[in-house]
Amino acid sequence: MVGSAAIMTQLALADIRAAASSITGTVLRTPTMPALSLSRRLDIELLLKLDHLQPTGAFKLRGAANAIGKLPAETAGVTCCSTGNHGRAVAFAARARGLRAVICMSELVPKTKVEGIRALGAEVRIIGRSQDDAQVESSRLVAEEGLVEIPPFDDLAVIAGQGTIALEMLADRPDIRTLLVPLSGGGLAAGVAFAAKAIDPSIKVVGISMDQGAAMHESLKAGRPVAVTEVVSLADSLGGGIGVKNRHTFALCREYLDDVLLVTEEEIYDAMQALYYEERLVAEGACVVGIAALMAGKLPSPEGPTATIITGRNVDMAVFNDVVAGKDVQLGDRTIKGRSYSHG
Ligand SMILES: *Cc1c(COP(=O)(O)O)cnc(C)c1O
Repeated sequence: MVGSAAIMTQLALADIRAAASSITGTVLRTPTMPALSLSRRLDIELLLKLDHLQPTGAFKLRGAANAIGKLPAETAGVTCCSTGNHGRAVAFAARARGLRAVICMSELVPKTKVEGIRALGAEVRIIGRSQDDAQVESSRLVAEEGLVEIPPFDDLAVIAGQGTIALEMLADRPDIRTLLVPLSGGGLAAGVAFAAKAIDPSIKVVGISMDQGAAMHESLKAGRPVAVTEVVSLADSLGGGIGVKNRHTFALCREYLDDVLLVTEEEIYDAMQALYYEERLVAEGACVVGIAALMAGKLPSPEGPTATIITGRNVDMAVFNDVVAGKDVQLGDRTIKGRSYSHG
């Protein structure tokens, strides 16, 4: 296929190996933990890549550190308009390189998020009442002050950085047969699937998203990048579009993912409880979509050791406490009915 040949020339396993060496010192090399209790419960061998242990609380530090590491030392600074895990990653990675970081956000962003980004050493610029206004300011900083915008997923250096997760996992456990990857913009899934299949083409890589507002899933179905309506989800880090002018992640996910599965909010709720009670881990809803798919039987008898990535721990603690206490959770105009965890 002409398309796949074009993709192959853009990203190589060597780029991911180079990223691994470039990000050392800023990014932690995280463990791949056998989840003994969940394995017993699910009757499979389940491994968890604990990337929520990164200093910023999420794997996105890998991609940001790799992209920022490639900039020349005389770069005026970096910018982005993410208030979530990507914004934290850009702030932290820029400080590690001694570069200025300006994170643009709207005045609707909660104070705790603003403080969190400031505490990581970045300047915060509060502009307007929407993410679009914040994006305008970020673009102005690029055009007028020479800052470099660091994209959250659709960038080859970011994708290569996220792909280092697969190198570490397969170094620890070369016997992994199935990888379940939380999927939003697809930087993580593209990097991990590309690297894993470059090492062992027979590994199965499955992307998982929530069942409403799953931009990559809708785009793959349509055969081109499409916009989706955003829906409030327990997996809040999986929200957002892939960009209708997507350059890399759509093609890479189409080429390298074996499948994409969707899980409901109820299934995410149950899996958050399971990860907490069985493995005692506090993690975001986005991390448990793979476990949710297994618990719901959406991946019938996966072959061999199966691994998923615990991608972040920046969970809203009020929501987390309600979930593990078995209380109702309000998501926009939807109510997820509370239920207690049934211990195996
Ligand atoms: C960004 C993010 C994801 C999804 O990564 P993409 O590269 O956008 O697909 C998953 N989990 C967490 C915690 C994230 O912050």
